Amino acid sequence: MKSFPHLAAFSFDIEDWHHSELHRVGDARPEESIVARGTEAILDLLAKHGWHSTFFVLGDVVREHPALIRRMVAEGHELACHGMSHRPLWRATPDSFRSELREFRSVVESVLGHFPVSGFRAPTFSIDRSNPWALDVLREQGYRYDSSVFPLKVKMYGTPGAPVGIYRPSRADLRRHDPDGVLVEFPVAIAELQGVRFPVGGGFYLRALPLPVFRAGLDFILRHRPFVLYLHPREITPEERRLPLDPVNGFITYVNLHTVMAKLEHLFERYEWTTMRAILEQERWL
Ligand SMILES: [Zn+2]
Repeated sequence: MKSFPHLAAFSFDIEDWHHSELHRVGDARPEESIVARGTEAILDLLAKHGWHSTFFVLGDVVREHPALIRRMVAEGHELACHGMSHRPLWRATPDSFRSELREFRSVVESVLGHFPVSGFRAPTFSIDRSNPWALDVLREQGYRYDSSVFPLKVKMYGTPGAPVGIYRPSRADLRRHDPDGVLVEFPVAIAELQGVRFPVGGGFYLRALPLPVFRAGLDFILRHRPFVLYLHPREITPEERRLPLDPVNGFITYVNLHTVMAKLEHLFERYEWTTMRAILEQERWL
């Protein structure tokens, strides 16, 4: 294992393949659900390496797979919130978002009893400059950190100009740090080389980039700050019937899925991993 001045966090967005905005292809839905199978495989791999991770789980998944959630928590992982049904916040209002967080809490309580959750990641990274009220609602509902501001413009989302490291977003401008900001923001990993930003945080980049390039990006970040990556269950155990996607979405969805397990094994041996909340506490953000 290499030694770095910061720790790394792996996070998993626990949803089924059909929750993704990329995969809304009319009514074409294979019957199979991969969320339980994929999450079990992730938990097995983490147990094998002895690392803890942060799981942003959909409320609908908590309701449908209570045993999975109990296992996750019993094995020392951090349970965090990914909303109820994967509706992006661009379509929400403060009131509808508040009820969604309350529903999530009651579903979690029905499985685990009283169980405070600190972290939130919006479906499709849908907190940006159009809806900074979401941070106020999160704080009011007891959340302490967010991981939804994507500091780069990509096809569907992004807040270009936002910090790439951990910060407290200003209510007036999400791109600015405000020491009095109500919530801590832990954005997913973006590498920055000579002023040019490129995303490395998600499963797509893990799959598409050659491992030495991906690893060099992560090494570079970890010399300066902690990072968080994210992956979905379907990237570990893909659905058997491929979806009829257009060439671009098909590429994003299916490129190099067969390389994921070996790459994860490598990353779990190279870096020291813990939960996002543990990093935020160690680095004195929480
Ligand atoms: Zn998601």
